[in-house]
Amino acid sequence: MAELGRWTQGMRTGLGEDPTHGAVVPPIYLSTNYTFEGIGEPRAYDYSRSANPTRDHLNDAIAVLEGGAGATAVSTGLAAITLVAEAFVPSGRRVVVQHDAYGGTWRLFTFLAEQGRLEVDFVDFNDDEALGAALALSPALVWIETPSNPLLRITDIRKVADAAHAVGAMVAADNTFLSPLYQRPLEHGADIVVHSTTKFINGHSDVVGGVAVAAEQDVHDRLRLWANALGLTGSAFDAYLTLRGLRTLDARMRVHTSNTEALVDLLRDHPAVAALYYPGLPGHPGNDVARRQQTGMGSLLALELHGGRPAAEAFLDGLQIFHLAESLGGVESLICHPASMTHAGMTPEARATAGIGDGLLRLSVGVESADDLVAVVGEALERAARSQG
Ligand SMILES: *Cc1c(COP(=O)(O)O)cnc(C)c1O
Repeated sequence: MAELGRWTQGMRTGLGEDPTHGAVVPPIYLSTNYTFEGIGEPRAYDYSRSANPTRDHLNDAIAVLEGGAGATAVSTGLAAITLVAEAFVPSGRRVVVQHDAYGGTWRLFTFLAEQGRLEVDFVDFNDDEALGAALALSPALVWIETPSNPLLRITDIRKVADAAHAVGAMVAADNTFLSPLYQRPLEHGADIVVHSTTKFINGHSDVVGGVAVAAEQDVHDRLRLWANALGLTGSAFDAYLTLRGLRTLDARMRVHTSNTEALVDLLRDHPAVAALYYPGLPGHPGNDVARRQQTGMGSLLALELHGGRPAAEAFLDGLQIFHLAESLGGVESLICHPASMTHAGMTPEARATAGIGDGLLRLSVGVESADDLVAVVGEALERAARSQG
């Protein structure tokens, strides 16, 4: 018998196992509750907040793909982050969060700190001195997100995890931008991986969801217990759709990637482009680490146009295919202007320090035809160049 690889095992979770009718795709279990066989005789499931068969198929598939002991699917990506914070940060303890983590992550930890629930330090993980100073304060949890948004900065997971473990901290890594196919943080020393499954894992921009995957069984057991206690678990219907999306993840990622490479070739030497941010480029500051810890470079890229905001407006004016919208990782191509959208909450000075200019655009490259994507972005670059006069 052939030993099946990780992807095949993960994507086939639950297929062909229906004992009642031999359904190839496992049926969805929408029931909120389950009968007991008798007093003191529960079956595998009793109540769907605690556990649900459809959600467990999704959990099992993601646990296999990330190489974890178990996964806990919850209602949103932020619910997954909340779950980790509540289950593993005792009151009054510190959390060290990467300074350019997802905006919702920043807001959650900031709000919890304002409530006096915990203390938080936002630190540039590529600044060894700042990271060392924050770790010296004995945090309970260190929060990594790599690549980060919107400039795709790379954090060396192994290096940060080793330093965090040396001071007794737990390490969580947000793996939303790459999916388990291109990066498996547990193999680089993280204790927990979280995803917004809203993005690549579901991949069709029609479900909001999240998951937390633990390397060790005891950590997983605690996450599952706390997800039920806090009431964060996701719906069966969402789990069904997310698993349906997950089954094509590998096929989608390959098209996402080749399309992105075609656009990078167009953008890298174009005169209208002042800077191009893609971890796969040799000039990207995180390229070496990315090559070491990632098996793919993903389908997000950012470009800074010469000419600032007017150039960005010219680029967008009449742009085909790409929708001007937040979010990422769906089959459809999206474009975002971080200065006025995802990062509008920052002051202009803070944006400037973070390297987010008014001419910066972030692309989430979809699975349309590469030829069409290259054609419409080529036209947009011509418009941007003309606006620069
Ligand atoms: C979208 C996102 C989240 C939050 O997920 P939701 O599903 O929107 O709650 C967290 N981290 C990253 C990196 C994200 O892109």
